[in-house]
Amino acid sequence: MDDSFELYDLKVEVVATDKPMVCDHPEGSYFHVVGEMLIFPPERPRIAMYPLAALLPFFPAKQRPTHDHDWMTTDAEIACPDPHCGARFRITRLEKSTFSHAETTRVPLPGASDD
Ligand SMILES: [Zn+2]
Repeated sequence: MDDSFELYDLKVEVVATDKPMVCDHPEGSYFHVVGEMLIFPPERPRIAMYPLAALLPFFPAKQRPTHDHDWMTTDAEIACPDPHCGARFRITRLEKSTFSHAETTRVPLPGASDD
């Protein structure tokens, strides 16, 4: 039985605004989200925990298809949670990756035998 499903890979990139940045997240720095993994480029393998905490709730929704009229589809920039920082984090959907249900959970699919 094919138990595969797809999720968008995401690119999360720091974009500047007309307001100066306060935190240590230079313009253009980025990381990818593939499945449950955050993947950083070797030249900048880190992110501050406060913007990461603000970004995390959006990743599962951005990984999945959303309605064309849904704001989750159109809105792609999340502001840094530091009110004095001008940085934004742009979340871009890339290609889709395929995953197996059985390899991502122990909960059986409806109608599947669990023994
Ligand atoms: Zn910031």
